[in-house]
Amino acid sequence: MTAAAEVLAELRALRAGDLPTHGARTLAYVYDSGLSGVDELAAEAHALAAHANGLDPTAFPSLLRLENELVATTAELVGGTEHTVGAVTSGGTESCLLAVLAARTGAPEVREPAMVLPETAHAAFHKAAHFFGVRAVPVPVDPVTFRADPAAMAAAMDERTVLVVASAPSYAHGVLDPIAEIAAAAAARGIRMHVDACIGGWVLPHLGVPPFGFDVPGVTSVSVDLHKYAYCPKGVSVLLHAGAELRRGHYFASADWPGYTMLNTTVQSTRSGGPLAAAWAVVRHIGADGYRRLALDARAAAEEIAAGIGKIDGLRVLGAPDSTLVALALDGTPGFDLFTVADEMSARNWYVQPQFAHGVSPSNLHLTLSAANRGHEREFLADLESAVTVARAAGPVEVDPRVLEFVAALDPEGLTSEQFAGLLAAAGLGDGGAVPARMAEVNTLLAAAPPRLRERLLLEFLGQLHH
Ligand SMILES: *Cc1c(COP(=O)(O)O)cnc(C)c1O
Repeated sequence: MTAAAEVLAELRALRAGDLPTHGARTLAYVYDSGLSGVDELAAEAHALAAHANGLDPTAFPSLLRLENELVATTAELVGGTEHTVGAVTSGGTESCLLAVLAARTGAPEVREPAMVLPETAHAAFHKAAHFFGVRAVPVPVDPVTFRADPAAMAAAMDERTVLVVASAPSYAHGVLDPIAEIAAAAAARGIRMHVDACIGGWVLPHLGVPPFGFDVPGVTSVSVDLHKYAYCPKGVSVLLHAGAELRRGHYFASADWPGYTMLNTTVQSTRSGGPLAAAWAVVRHIGADGYRRLALDARAAAEEIAAGIGKIDGLRVLGAPDSTLVALALDGTPGFDLFTVADEMSARNWYVQPQFAHGVSPSNLHLTLSAANRGHEREFLADLESAVTVARAAGPVEVDPRVLEFVAALDPEGLTSEQFAGLLAAAGLGDGGAVPARMAEVNTLLAAAPPRLRERLLLEFLGQLHH
């Protein structure tokens, strides 16, 4: 046996090489309430239930109770009624997957089911399309506001449409789609309408934005992540439905084997009680007032940072963010490179997330602001300004234009794994999965790659990372 202390020391050493999850300098992937004691509470609650199995709610009634309470709290936040029901899932992607699955299963008469979604909808819906054989019909968004275009969405709906999707807000630009108009168009055709409030569900209700949940006629399901702005440890999201009959399509039973009759509400069968108990404890501890303050703090940080970005020469904010997410882009052609700015921010211990151009959206850097950013906006803006100054002095990233042309013209279908390995090496990603400290050149190459090629390249890279 290895001593527990030694094992933990090893784990701590490994974790020290990661991006920090607290301190609000990692502006994607993680959420920091800035409150003390919340993590400790979550860890204790997690430990209390980690070995309990949500597979059988009659065997572990405590988990059923926790789940029902989380569903009720979430429903209340997003306009739920006495008919609203739900399920706790492992995350936003699972919630979105199940919304699509339920819609497809609920329309067995539709032979080639399709889903109409704004091109800004989360990639989780493309994953759902891929998993469940539903055709994704992406609809261009407004090129200035980046909001879904209700008329274009309505025009894209037809007899094959089993689900319409909108975001509250979108991840990439943090803007709220015109939910009411889209939901009305879906309802007029008798089509289900899912509102993806994975990242906004716990924030927007405190910001005085237009209704986006079940209080909007036509909305049939809503996804809300607890491991984002409810500041719970990872592994918890809620999928809500306007009525129990809408949920049935993602329930699963199998009596077709000699073991227990398998009954599942979600993708998982054995389900740890840990994430659920941790989320329940954090939500109960912070409470409605606490969340209101955290939401207002995160929003204030986002507003101050967005306003500051607008004052930096050469930068602008995409759209008018409605929540706590900001996308910053180049203003005109200022002669520097955003990917270099991202590298310079890394050198200043900030993680900002590059987003490649797509549809009407230019390349940009994404910021997820949380409550802990409040009061530290100036630190961020000062470092951003100095990062831009350095990037400007460095000039645009130099990648041989012939290489860019070559990459842009490649057809991923015709390439072998060896050719991909060669490409990755040429891109600076070939070293057995090591990532270079400066990513600007790599990002410039990836940005030049058409989406299908970029997907394949990065999947080959992922395959190198995982043994
Ligand atoms: C984060 C997010 C998702 C996916 O959630 P995961 O928890 O990462 O699986 C879906 N939609 C939106 C809008 C999100 O922000």
